[in-house]
Amino acid sequence: MRPLDLRSDTVTRPTPEMRAAMASAEVGDDVLERDPTMAILEARVADLLGLEAALWVPSGCMGNLIGLMLHLRRGDRFLAPAQAHVLGSELGTGAWLAGGMPEALAWEGGPGRPTPAQVTKTAGSPGPYYTLRSRLLCLENTHNFAGGTVTPVAEHRALVAAAKAAGLAVHLDGARLWHAAAALGCPLAELTAGVDTVQVCLSKGLGAPMGSMLGGSAAAMVEARRLRKMLGGGVRQGGVVAAAGLVALDYLPRVAEDHAKIQRLADGLRAFGVAAPVPETNILLVPVADAPGALTALEAVGVRVLPVGSAIRFIAHRDLTAGDIEEALRRLEPVALSLRSA
Ligand SMILES: *Cc1c(COP(=O)(O)O)cnc(C)c1O
Repeated sequence: MRPLDLRSDTVTRPTPEMRAAMASAEVGDDVLERDPTMAILEARVADLLGLEAALWVPSGCMGNLIGLMLHLRRGDRFLAPAQAHVLGSELGTGAWLAGGMPEALAWEGGPGRPTPAQVTKTAGSPGPYYTLRSRLLCLENTHNFAGGTVTPVAEHRALVAAAKAAGLAVHLDGARLWHAAAALGCPLAELTAGVDTVQVCLSKGLGAPMGSMLGGSAAAMVEARRLRKMLGGGVRQGGVVAAAGLVALDYLPRVAEDHAKIQRLADGLRAFGVAAPVPETNILLVPVADAPGALTALEAVGVRVLPVGSAIRFIAHRDLTAGDIEEALRRLEPVALSLRSA
């Protein structure tokens, strides 16, 4: 039985178009000078994000880490929504390598989102020399572990305004900013308004084999390039993978198809009596009573998923067809009891 892989939108394989672009990519040494294809990709993404400049990085984690390193000095506090990727899923690099003191903000503004008032209150005001200094707000849109939830434009702007008023820089973890923009039907640049840096993943949802982009001011990207080199992310003929990244951007107008796929899955599961919420983007979190039991039952019928806390996470992506979703539902119906929430 062919496994249906809904573990992540990173499991996609490069398309024939990507492989062809990789084979014929124009390249140079990106450490010594510039790789021409990476330069084209960086200019394209900066433009899409409405920012001055962008920098290719091998992974989203490195992009976020460079963002944090740009804004923090050792001992500085950074705020992020509870369960943000930078808090729990980057192996503590925000503290270990960027020197930050993490502060999680509860989701008082909705799933995955703090309120501007929380930002103001938690940032506090600069006290005497012996007080902890808050320097950065790190946002996440969409918020992965809240279930791919979207921060709308007005709320984004209010959060950034609160951060700026409190003297904080803003980094946006936009691993799936594509999905937020698609769900809202707005340009990507609306969702980067006011941020100092943003990280977007080419390998999440868009199908590139690797790579993320960090965006920000031209001056910030000069410093970011230095930090990338320090972290071992200075690559030579990176145009080979940047070429795939350029092709991956062609999927942007189709991102909403993956939202429709996961909505269909959620509707189907609800018809089987499963307590599936209405997904906002391409992620569906189903709360279950027994996550390990559910994983085993689903694996046995050839549906691959991942646990997120006490929930099961289903993610739709470009390598799953609408027919695959119907097939997944056929396989899930007999084991739907394993997805019960109590
Ligand atoms: C996957 C992810 C990252 C990190 O990306 P990698 O390319 O896996 O390092 C960062 N933030 C969020 C929200 C993610 O989902």
